[in-house]
Amino acid sequence: MKTHVSEVFSSIQGEGKLLGRRQIFIRFSGCNLNCNYCDTPESRDPDRGEYISTDELQGRVENLITPDLHSLALTGGEPLLHSDYLKEFLQNNSIDALLETNGSLPDELSKILDLIRYASVDIKLPEHEAVPRWNSLLDNELKSINLLIEEGINTYCKLVVLPSTKIDTVDFIASKIVQEVENNSKLPLIIQPESPLTNWQSKQDKLLEMSEKVGRYLDVLVIPQVHKFLNVR
Ligand code: SF4
Repeated sequence: MKTHVSEVFSSIQGEGKLLGRRQIFIRFSGCNLNCNYCDTPESRDPDRGEYISTDELQGRVENLITPDLHSLALTGGEPLLHSDYLKEFLQNNSIDALLETNGSLPDELSKILDLIRYASVDIKLPEHEAVPRWNSLLDNELKSINLLIEEGINTYCKLVVLPSTKIDTVDFIASKIVQEVENNSKLPLIIQPESPLTNWQSKQDKLLEMSEKVGRYLDVLVIPQVHKFLNVR
């Protein structure tokens, strides 16, 4: 099987709970959403990159293995647009894999649930303008989180917040997760301030307030995109 892979490279994870881990990033082409803060807009093009087989991808991954390798990062675009390809690739792969997904495709997610170790679900806010029907997107994100937790996958959620994001919106998302997600007591929710951080000058108190709101319900962390400080991809 072949698909479009935008890029394959080794770097340091700069977001979320695997922050600082050496990973091999496999960036798939195409995305079904259109977020206004997207930092990889070029990867939304479904034809970007090379059209390669799972064997070719395996070879590229093997060439990038380093002694400090922690895991693969399956990212995009939206990697679950390639779920059948991912399934074939992961069935022959022995390295732990982190799936970075927007959570909008629970049916595709269910095809590879037994093949991933970690998952990051990026929850969209209404102001991200990702889709016109935001409520149904949120329902699918919650369904995806439930599937991951039921399968015992080490899962965390990520909320990219903008300086204009309302505290009440963050509060609403956290409370919705608690209502709709089973066994949520240890679920981390990472508040990720949009880059660049210069946009947050004199607005840091807002991040503290958001953290306090989420902390009433979930295991909250505030983590910016650290790879941008390290000047790595
Ligand atoms: S889901 Fe991710 S890749 Fe797709 S548009 Fe949003 S930020 Fe960009």
